[in-house]
Amino acid sequence: MGKAMIIGAGGVASVAVHKCCQNPEVFEEILIASRTKSKCDALKAKLDGGKTKIETAAVDADNVPELTALIREFKPDVVLNLALPYQDLHVMDACLAAGVHYVDTANYEPEDTAKFEYSWQWAYADRFREAGLTALLGSGFDPGVTGVFSAYAMKHEFDEINYIDILDCNGGDHGYPFATNFNPEINIREVSAKGSYWENGAWVETEPMEIKRVYDFAEVGQKDMYLLHHEELESLAKNIKGIKRIRFFMTFGESYLTHLRCLENVGMTSIEPIDFEGHKIIPLQFLKAVLPDPASLGSRTKGKTNIGCIFRGKKDGKEKNYYLYNVCDHEACYAEVGSQAVAYTTGVPAMIGAMMVMTGKWRRPGVFNVEEFDPDPFMDALNVWGLPWQESHSPVLVD
Ligand code: NDP
Repeated sequence: MGKAMIIGAGGVASVAVHKCCQNPEVFEEILIASRTKSKCDALKAKLDGGKTKIETAAVDADNVPELTALIREFKPDVVLNLALPYQDLHVMDACLAAGVHYVDTANYEPEDTAKFEYSWQWAYADRFREAGLTALLGSGFDPGVTGVFSAYAMKHEFDEINYIDILDCNGGDHGYPFATNFNPEINIREVSAKGSYWENGAWVETEPMEIKRVYDFAEVGQKDMYLLHHEELESLAKNIKGIKRIRFFMTFGESYLTHLRCLENVGMTSIEPIDFEGHKIIPLQFLKAVLPDPASLGSRTKGKTNIGCIFRGKKDGKEKNYYLYNVCDHEACYAEVGSQAVAYTTGVPAMIGAMMVMTGKWRRPGVFNVEEFDPDPFMDALNVWGLPWQESHSPVLVD
């Protein structure tokens, strides 16, 4: 079918590359391009010899001319951006310059400000439309599958959705007192920020971890979960008609929160540069360097994730509740692709998003979030590619 260029060679990219190689009818050729080429080469060494032809390259995705030249040379049908959120706008610029479709899993965040929102990427809509190119934003799990679930619920189950609660539960245990399941810098910026939710057309802000609930998750059990701001709240508030409130909850254990509080109290989670022995260092980046690499957690993580959305709304004039979720087993993911479930649940939808664009099932000039496309082919692909979904018509609600 065609060629994809994958930028980044971290935890999520590793899963996406494995999945592209399992799907050679669509991904005939891939180029893995990242800052550290040895990581791209290690992935190629692991997966070479199958039907998908793999090339590797070093690239600094923040250098737009260099990245544009590489895209022009490889001529992919789509660029799948699995580097960090800081690179999003530069990769979009390079895609526009080279005339190639764009897919990512996380919205743009300036490196020096802990603030993520879609406005910067949505501002590219005219340029992508005029170029006849598709930019698909947020094709991971959350954002990503949560948006597809919302579009599916809207299409098949409701006339109007009024409330969405997104519940992200990681019941996995890696045995370390403190480690993050994806890039520590991005993860800690996300969880140490103020929380917020969307209600009646406006944002309601909370202190970090101020709102706590307990939920009994299928196949995982009872967990504490906390309200966070999360990027899909912004796009779903715009794209789901009739919505009155959207909240996002993520589970955290006591040990994680105690360590995080301590690190915050001593200043280790700050992104303000400080002087250290004549160098400028950013405490959070230093902390990342001493924490376990998320990619190394796979072999030691046991347990399951359960991520999904509880919808409340109306169908044929009657009130209705509906829950869509996926349960994913850390050890099964590791056995299949050598990664834990957090990387797996992001890398699989990233591959599917790229496949949707490459096959033309999701192709429309402009910049779009996943819930703006027909959810059905994506929902079918989740069942085929390792993230089967489950549903309940009588879920326990979150108060
Ligand atoms: P990692 O830190 O493991 O990997 C990031 C990769 O990007 C590394 O290979 C890194 O290179 C590379 N990179 C960083 N800067 C550049 C640059 N300037 N040019 C080229 N390559 C660069 O992160 P993850 O795999 O955990 O996360 C990847 C993305 O997925 C992030 O944007 C994250 O926010 C997102 N994500 C989305 C989720 C979702 O559900 N939607 C969930 C989890 C993550 P190097 O090896 O040199 O450091």
